[in-house]
Amino acid sequence: MHDPAKIQLIMELRRGGIRDPRLLNVIETLPRELFVEQPFRARAYDNAALPIAGGQTISQPYAVAFMTQALEVGPRMKVLEVGTGSGYQAAVLSRLCRRVYSVERYRSLHDRAEERFRALGIHNITSRHGDGMKGWPEQAPFERILVTAAASRIPTTLVDQLAEGGVMVFPLEKNPGAQVIMRLTRTAKRIETCEMIPTRFVPLVEGVAQDG
Ligand code: SAH
Repeated sequence: MHDPAKIQLIMELRRGGIRDPRLLNVIETLPRELFVEQPFRARAYDNAALPIAGGQTISQPYAVAFMTQALEVGPRMKVLEVGTGSGYQAAVLSRLCRRVYSVERYRSLHDRAEERFRALGIHNITSRHGDGMKGWPEQAPFERILVTAAASRIPTTLVDQLAEGGVMVFPLEKNPGAQVIMRLTRTAKRIETCEMIPTRFVPLVEGVAQDG
C-alpha cells in the first residue's frame, strides 16, 4: 500500500475506533476508485461521501467502516443490504460474509453496481432493482441487515426478516436533519436498540425510482 491518500484514510479510520483487522484490510485492498464517478477518482480515498447517479452518494468511508464493524459480520452469514448505490458497501460486506443480497431503487445504479461486481470478479453478491423497504422475503431470514439510507422510523418489515439473534444496523432520522446510526438486535423475546453515533445519509424512500 503506497498510495498516501489510502494510508491517510486507514490511519483516520483507526483513530476513529475502527480496529477490526479484517475490515481494515478489505478497505485497504478494495479499489474504491472503481465505485466513484470519473471526475471524483482523484478523491476516492478522501474520507468523504461523493455524488453518484440519481442525486445519491457513495457513503463516507468512515460510515461504511463504522456500520460494518457494528454489524459484526461472520464468514458464514447471509446479509441483506438496502441501498446498493455504487455497490461499494456491498463489495466490502462480500469479503466478510458468505453471501450478500442487495436492493437498489434506481435501476441505473443497480445496473452499474452489477457491472462493477462482475468486473471485480465478485460472485457472492446477488442484487436486484426494487424497493428495499420490503426487504427480500424469498431469502429471509437474514443473520445481518444493513440499511444504507436514513429511515424516519424503525423499518419493521426488515426487522421481521431478521433471524433470531440477528443484528440490523441502520441510520435513523430522529428529528429533521438529525440522524444517528442505530444497532438493533432481535432476540427470541424482544427487540433491543442502541443509539451509536450521529451520521448523515440520503433518505430511505419507499417504492422504486423512475429513472428510465
Ligand atoms: N451503500 C451505498 C450507499 C448509497 S446511498 C454505497 O456503498 O454506495 C443510499 C442508496 O439507497 C441510494 O442509492 C438510494 O437510491 C437507495 N435507496 C433509498 N431508498 C431505498 C429503498 N427503499 N430501496 C432500495 N434502495 C433505496
